[in-house]
Amino acid sequence: MATWRSPRRSVHWLPSAKNRFRCRWFVRRSSRSSPPRSIAITITSTPATPIWPPARAPSALRAVLVNLPIINAPVEALAQREPARRLPRWLKRNVPKGNANHFTERLLDELRLETVCDSAKCPNRMECYSQKTATFMILGNVCTRPCGFCAVDKGKTQALELDEPARVAEAAARLGLAHVVITSVTRDDLADGGAEHFYQTVLAVRERTGAVVEVLTPDFVEQRHALDRVVAAAPEVFNHNTETVPRLYRDVRGRKSDYRWTLDLLRRVKQLNPTIRTKSGLMLGLGETRDELLDTLADLRDAGCDLLTLGQYLQPSPQHLPVTRYVPPDEFDELGRAARGMGFLQVASGPFVRSSYHARDMATTD
Ligand code: SF4
Repeated sequence: MATWRSPRRSVHWLPSAKNRFRCRWFVRRSSRSSPPRSIAITITSTPATPIWPPARAPSALRAVLVNLPIINAPVEALAQREPARRLPRWLKRNVPKGNANHFTERLLDELRLETVCDSAKCPNRMECYSQKTATFMILGNVCTRPCGFCAVDKGKTQALELDEPARVAEAAARLGLAHVVITSVTRDDLADGGAEHFYQTVLAVRERTGAVVEVLTPDFVEQRHALDRVVAAAPEVFNHNTETVPRLYRDVRGRKSDYRWTLDLLRRVKQLNPTIRTKSGLMLGLGETRDELLDTLADLRDAGCDLLTLGQYLQPSPQHLPVTRYVPPDEFDELGRAARGMGFLQVASGPFVRSSYHARDMATTD
């Protein structure tokens, strides 16, 4: 069944048994009566080579769809990709047994803390929680960027919680962490992008636990002095993910992102404090070629990046970017060797590697 109203109000196209497309709409407007300021559209299709407007949509709806201003939709990128379908055997894993993960979950609940492990549906969550480790996500659990790969909620952000740094420090102490990873959602709505909150959290964790601190920050692309403030906290590791190769950058990371700025950010961290180890990571399986990947790794080395993670992108839901390829483990091994040959101090490369996976091992090995 398909139902819709005037595009100046809202459009809902409900999937039916025959209909193999799903369209989800998010309409922004200044007031109930004003026309839409923007419309974000997510398309999911089976088979997943979207045709815009969807061929199966009723003709009246197609006429509406074809004229709609589309923002933030990775439609063109999706259309060029042939998605991988079945999860290969090397991406199936056993869930660790034991109660340690319940301990971690209860502690996070009690202290009202978010983790990227949960919010981003990380496949390693049970393993990491069972080892009483997690990556704390500060500044709320709603992001201001519409990245097509990420499961973290987007939309209206929350007010800062000024006691959050102390709660993160408390959790780190009670988990007995010797290496604490702190990340955040992107907060383009804040004048400093949340840099001061990062600063306070790093200091609170260090004071309470004496742990090595690793930050994994957004790009602060519109808050250029924000980076300096985070560096002033002197985290031992400064991680900013590249995520993908330059050709796919805006399709994957949204229109505000900038590949050159990512490299500049890593370079500037080193200039501000050469004792900080810089780190970055990429997801494979988004349509990148091997040559593009190697060029990107060379750019990262040129920016002074010390530590590298390479992992398999997994589609968190049908509304997210499709996987174009599941990279076999031996190819990850080979890429890891190539990266080490380029001079990275440490490389973690494998299907389940994420930017904070076994972060302590990566940071402490020379
Ligand atoms: S790999 Fe990182 S994000 Fe994933 S569960 Fe482990 S600590 Fe959390």
